[in-house]
Amino acid sequence: LKLIILGSGSATPSLLRNPSAQILNEADQNYLIDCGEGTQIQLIKYKIKIHKIKNIFISHLHGDHYFGLIGLISSMNLAQRKEPLTIFGPKGLDEIITIQLKYGQSNLHFKLDFVAINCTSALKIFENEFLDVTAFPLNHRIPCFGYLFSQKGKPRNLIKEKLPIDISVDEILKLKNGENVLDEIGRVKFNYLQMTTQQTYPKKYAYCSDSAYYENIIDTIKNADILYHEATFKEDLINRATFTHHSTAKQAAKIAHLANVKKLIIGHFSSRYHDLSENLEEAKATFTNTMLAIDGESYEI
Ligand SMILES: [Zn+2]
Ligand SMILES: [Zn+2]
Repeated sequence: LKLIILGSGSATPSLLRNPSAQILNEADQNYLIDCGEGTQIQLIKYKIKIHKIKNIFISHLHGDHYFGLIGLISSMNLAQRKEPLTIFGPKGLDEIITIQLKYGQSNLHFKLDFVAINCTSALKIFENEFLDVTAFPLNHRIPCFGYLFSQKGKPRNLIKEKLPIDISVDEILKLKNGENVLDEIGRVKFNYLQMTTQQTYPKKYAYCSDSAYYENIIDTIKNADILYHEATFKEDLINRATFTHHSTAKQAAKIAHLANVKKLIIGHFSSRYHDLSENLEEAKATFTNTMLAIDGESYEI
């Protein structure tokens, strides 16, 4: 899994930072997460193939998270896209995009599906052979959702010399899936830990877009390999953060600590910050393994 930041700024585009957009790359698919204005240009700049985007996840309907969507859809159409595209996002997004296409008399050559997210607790919204995506509510001025991307575990490797000669195919499949094989009265006949090894452990990436400090998300994002959490302000502007339903760098770090994640990436920075070293220091004081989201940077998960 690889994360590429396309935009780490908030509110308005600036010469320093684009508004929110990210690519999560896995197994030849690019999952686009938020699509602020200018995302198309960022995709070109960082050589990300748009035909590999099959699913888009929009957190909420503030413009800095989706104003790039209609342009991207139009470009996909001009490129003669035939593959269907699915957009997950809050209720109303389908109406907005549909009306833009209607008055431009744009007939799409591909199927465009919308999935309206309207959950009040964590809910699995997508699944394919590689990963699951769970949406969960954040605490913002309008409905806003975070997304948890959970890679699926690959089957375990058999340790051939430990397998008995008379083991059946069904029993082998159970071991490969990480289950013990039991006898008729429920005792462990073959222990999967003794007969298999794990290839790679499945990774988790949690995207927490605009939100005030919100401990309700902790259970859902627990133990994530990377947590992206907005940190629009520093702690000296905590009143402004509370008023606008955003977080400070310190608050993002506190969530990372309580959720026991491995790494924190902070982003969605206010355009008032040019140098972000103090924002980073503030977060690191609470959660050491913190990095800044920087446009164009990749992060291995
Ligand atoms: Zn925003
Ligand atoms: Zn917002």
